Amino acid sequence: MSIDKLFINGSIYTMTAENQKVEAMGVKGDKIAFVGSTKEALEFKGSSDMEVVDLYQRTILPGLTDSHLHLYAHCKNLEDVNLETARSINDVITFMKNKVSEKVQGKWIKGANFDDAKFIEGRMPTKTDLDKISTTHPIIIRRVCLHVVCANSLALKLAGIVKGYQPEVKGTVEFDGEGEPTGIVRERSIKVFDQIIPDTFSTLGERKEAISKVLEDMASKGLTSVHTYAAKIWKFEENIEIYRQLEKEGSLPIRVLVCLDELYEKENQDIIQMSKVSYGSYKIFIDGSLGARSAALLEPYSDDPGNSGILLCTQEELYIKMRKGYENGMQLAMHAIGDMALDAAVTSIEEILKEFPYNGQRFRIIHAQLINGNLLGRMKKLPIVLDIQPRFLNTDLHWLEDRLGKSRSTKAYTWKTMMDEGIILAGGSDSPVESYNPFKGVYCAITRQNDTGYPQGGWHPEEKLSVYQALSLFTKNSAYTTGEETIKGTLEPGKLADFIMIDRDPFIIEPLDVLNTKVLKTFVGGIQVY
Ligand SMILES: [Zn+2]
Repeated sequence: MSIDKLFINGSIYTMTAENQKVEAMGVKGDKIAFVGSTKEALEFKGSSDMEVVDLYQRTILPGLTDSHLHLYAHCKNLEDVNLETARSINDVITFMKNKVSEKVQGKWIKGANFDDAKFIEGRMPTKTDLDKISTTHPIIIRRVCLHVVCANSLALKLAGIVKGYQPEVKGTVEFDGEGEPTGIVRERSIKVFDQIIPDTFSTLGERKEAISKVLEDMASKGLTSVHTYAAKIWKFEENIEIYRQLEKEGSLPIRVLVCLDELYEKENQDIIQMSKVSYGSYKIFIDGSLGARSAALLEPYSDDPGNSGILLCTQEELYIKMRKGYENGMQLAMHAIGDMALDAAVTSIEEILKEFPYNGQRFRIIHAQLINGNLLGRMKKLPIVLDIQPRFLNTDLHWLEDRLGKSRSTKAYTWKTMMDEGIILAGGSDSPVESYNPFKGVYCAITRQNDTGYPQGGWHPEEKLSVYQALSLFTKNSAYTTGEETIKGTLEPGKLADFIMIDRDPFIIEPLDVLNTKVLKTFVGGIQVY
């Protein structure tokens, strides 16, 4: 057997099964050619040009995949001032003022992630507050949930929000006693800003540069594949050509699957096989989010008894949309969070499979946050994969019980139950919603705690995943979503040589220490990309 590169004396977790560990691995071309003991490996050493790397007992894992994120949206967000640590309106003003000096007059300045619940003033910032930052730059800041925006006077004027303004249905604009807008704008009314604010990156070159930087950072966090999704409703765009150009130039470090929320032209098989970039699923939105109380629930929200959320389409409309995608040979991916939305998704999948022969592509359901026994039983019988985001717990465990009530919250984020039932779960971050550092997701899945270790023992600890299960989410199970489990996701001869070297062994350290895992090296197709 000829081998290009031999890795010996390592602690290599193949992830083929729990506790499967070898010392050595050989790589030939872009694939793994051998796994076994160091002793066996050294028998290959006959050939002269073989490179031998001593791993000095370092931990090796298969490369990690983020099965659901929005890559270009993340790039755009990097331009915004991060207001996450602001504890007062004064903090907001100070943080934002730093950006003013960088921008010429008239250019938009945006802030993100403020949370008024943490402000000493106990209220939202108004246009009067934001005018203290600048009156010659239009300014908006977005609340952490994305459902509220505060604007300064110039931004309001440019958006046409003046005295007597009629907000859109399903949106609100706040007015003061004199009928003037206060600067606080909610829900659908926010869209007017999205329509007038120019894209942060005006040329394709600028976009490419921003995307390239983020891809490199992803490689440094241990990601070797990402599934990136477009979402027209938030102007989250995805352009496969950018990734293809980077690949041509030899500067695409990791594999990218581009998923769109509209029907697209399929590419021919030759292009797909030659490339690290390909098209993935066709995404359909069924409901909103739990945070914004717009995820569709079978029973009303416990902290808003008149509201059960929103189904964005009827059962019939959903079925027609899905059938169209299915007939076009697309893999279907449904955004469904609440139990009612999940029911709608499962019902349509059942109908499609009654009407058509199964085409072999797994149905993806994204988020799947509130699930009952009936749904679990039906899902088990179907070719379904759930794309979950364990990192959501870091934020959501603080309010889930308010939204859902004590007994219903035991049905939320029940990943252990789902896995024990034999349902395949894949892991992602939904970045820019949460950090795409996969070890932060693994940490939440195994501890069910936030980054400060709250609550002690974990939120509904009976649903904690083992380290092996949590790493499966980001390795072989993510490969399974796209039917690629035969070519990647575990370290076995014949599979792609996508793997990472990390600074600690997640299987033996304290769960809390998994959070700060550092990646030392990342290999994609046998080539070191970080
Ligand atoms: Zn998403």
